[in-house]
Amino acid sequence: MGCGITEAPDWPAPSAEVGEKTVFKRMFHFGTIFAFSTITMIGAVSTFFALQWMPVTSPIGLFNTLTFLLWNYLTIGNLFNASYFGPGYVPREWKPPNKDDERKLQFCVPCNGFKVPRSHHCSKCNRCCMKMDHHCPWINNCVGHRNHQYFLRFLFFSVVGCIHACIIDGFSLYHALFAGWYQRYGDGTEPIILITPYSFIALIFAIAMATAVSLALTFLFITQLRYVIRNRNGIEDYIHGKSLNMRKVNEDDDEEEKEFIEKLGEWKYPYDLGWKRNLREIFISIFDGRTRGNGTWWPVVEGCTQFTFTIDQLLQKQSKRGRARIITIGQDFEGTCGSSRKFGWKIWMKQPIIDGKCLKVSAGETIVATRGVSGWVYGFRESEPRNKGWFPIAITNLKYNGDPKTEDTNTSTTTTTTSDEGKTEDTLSSEEKKDQ
Ligand SMILES: [Zn+2]
Ligand SMILES: [Zn+2]
Repeated sequence: MGCGITEAPDWPAPSAEVGEKTVFKRMFHFGTIFAFSTITMIGAVSTFFALQWMPVTSPIGLFNTLTFLLWNYLTIGNLFNASYFGPGYVPREWKPPNKDDERKLQFCVPCNGFKVPRSHHCSKCNRCCMKMDHHCPWINNCVGHRNHQYFLRFLFFSVVGCIHACIIDGFSLYHALFAGWYQRYGDGTEPIILITPYSFIALIFAIAMATAVSLALTFLFITQLRYVIRNRNGIEDYIHGKSLNMRKVNEDDDEEEKEFIEKLGEWKYPYDLGWKRNLREIFISIFDGRTRGNGTWWPVVEGCTQFTFTIDQLLQKQSKRGRARIITIGQDFEGTCGSSRKFGWKIWMKQPIIDGKCLKVSAGETIVATRGVSGWVYGFRESEPRNKGWFPIAITNLKYNGDPKTEDTNTSTTTTTTSDEGKTEDTLSSEEKKDQ
């Protein structure tokens, strides 16, 4: 522990900006209103039944209601903070303090400035976000450097609150359904829960919502925690995978490609400081919701620099594998979920639906392919660069080797032409990847 870490340099860093949107504008959005209404609905219904199930006249009843209200407060409070603080935007037209470092950084065209290390441009926020993880519609903002801990706290307290709500509502429902039985055979100490058709519907609805929310958010929370332990986020995990992939030598690589790989050297993810330190980077203390660092310069492991990651991102664009390819479609594809069934169950089951829509293509068309996952290719027509989507690799002239671990179509291609540099720039921008 402690050894082999180069602390973040004290170079001048821009202050993270909150952005142009006012608090009201940010909170008054479908996603935020929906999240807020769900929390209040589960909270109100469960409190209503908690008071009947365990009246506050007993110490345990008081404790039960108060802790439940505390989860409500912490969930809403952290949701509000995550939404308000945002990821911390990189100021527009930002330049590194040292002019020489400009060539080691990516340039953002919409922001007309350089991207600070670990930042990405979000097309929904229309700003570059520090240490961007993803754009979250429920907080109507990006999750990144400044609100990462608030977001994790929001997930955690949502899950705890929903589980508590399920317990309250479940017992209440049980006692309400068996009220008659208890009246006859009980010992008179059982809670009496009065239920009307309306409160019954509300109770069932609250149980359903609380179960759904706790299941979905537990999954998300665990995913997030795994990233935090590795000091990585969703986008960085993706780029890291590409960095590893770029260094793999394939049989069909030409000499130029092999030479390129040789020059790259071994890849080391620069921000993994060991799990204890990684956790401390996000969770400073239980009272401090912020995360450590200025959002621009980061502690890195020995042998890496502030620009190790950004340089590799630039190299990925130069690499043949990172480049977009022009491919020919050999068979019609209707672009609907069901229509991919005819290419086999495997393809059908592995539809990358969460990562974007399907693209309708017809035989004979040429498509600019930018990336792929097992069995599927992502691309667009040259005439419609904004209309991007997925289609099965089986209908293209690309080879599919059937290896589900193949993260890049390019590893399984043999001879395909490459498109010009300019196109690569915008087709591979990371904002494409993680925009939900
Ligand atoms: Zn930007
Ligand atoms: Zn965003």
